[in-house]
Amino acid sequence: AKDNGKNTVQFFVAGMDEAYSNTMVLETMMHKALNNNEFELHYQPRINVRTGALSGLEALIRWRHPEQGLIPPTDFIPVAEESGMINPIGEWVLRTACAQNKSWQDAGYPPFSVAVNLSVRQFREQNLVQLISDVLRETGLEPQYLELEITENLSMHNMEYVLSILHEIRTLGVKISMDDFGTGYSSLSYLKKFPIDHLKIDQSFIRDIQHHKEDHSIVKAIISMAHSLGMIVVAEGVETDVQSSLLHEMDCDEIQGYLISKPLSADKIRHFLESKDEQ
Ligand code: C2E
Ligand code: CA
Ligand code: CA
Ligand code: CA
Repeated sequence: AKDNGKNTVQFFVAGMDEAYSNTMVLETMMHKALNNNEFELHYQPRINVRTGALSGLEALIRWRHPEQGLIPPTDFIPVAEESGMINPIGEWVLRTACAQNKSWQDAGYPPFSVAVNLSVRQFREQNLVQLISDVLRETGLEPQYLELEITENLSMHNMEYVLSILHEIRTLGVKISMDDFGTGYSSLSYLKKFPIDHLKIDQSFIRDIQHHKEDHSIVKAIISMAHSLGMIVVAEGVETDVQSSLLHEMDCDEIQGYLISKPLSADKIRHFLESKDEQ
């Protein structure tokens, strides 16, 4: 589901046959979208499975296109990654998520962290560490309230380089999460080397957890391995109470998914936070 960039291109510019020019057209469209403020962030809560307390929100981008309506990230992020537009878009996401989190704190809500997804290309082409520290300074958000989500595929690139950046990010006080764990190419020896605070088990392992013994065993093993490495474990895509209680039994730390909430606009997050306050 992550690599449907090809379908996307057709969806946007039906009638064009050159994949190359399609990407160029989309690149121009995304450039305009950035200038016209057509991107927005929705936020999905993640809670502590034992206490129910909010542990953080994940920022997820959407494109509010004047004609196409709300476009999901799976329709344009792969093309943005291919074309390089992911760099300015990723920078906008980081700045917006940090500024938004600071404004929730300023409004008096109990502080929580915001998680931002990073693409591999942002490691290669941006001075990421400088960017992160600039954004934290500009927005006034304290570093412990920012988390960066990376994927295992990062391990396929120059490891020494990637590790040095991750360590620098960690030194700033920012947290690092391994996203979609179990779907990528990394080996356990990489996992040991990565400086990771949270490990997010991919939703494909959670989906059938109550019916498939194998998935149940795998999730249980991941949780115990991650704990022995000192990581906090998050289960993604939790949709039912049964899944939630199984994960609780397996000693999973945090859950994220439609059971708790879909990703919500910043306005709706206020309602979510207020309803949590009353509990
Ligand atoms: P992801 O980082 O794995 O994000 C989780 C996706 O699962 C989100 O889809 C979320 O809406 C969806 N989801 C959450 N809970 C459930 C559930 O209970 N059931 C099901 N079936 N789905 C659930 P979304 O928002 O469409 O994002 C898709 C992907 O696009 C993300 O996957 C991430 O890889 C990418 N993405 C989103 N925003 C950004 C961004 O700002 N930058 C980058 N580089 N990638 C982004
Ligand atoms: Ca993510
Ligand atoms: Ca994920
Ligand atoms: Ca994903």
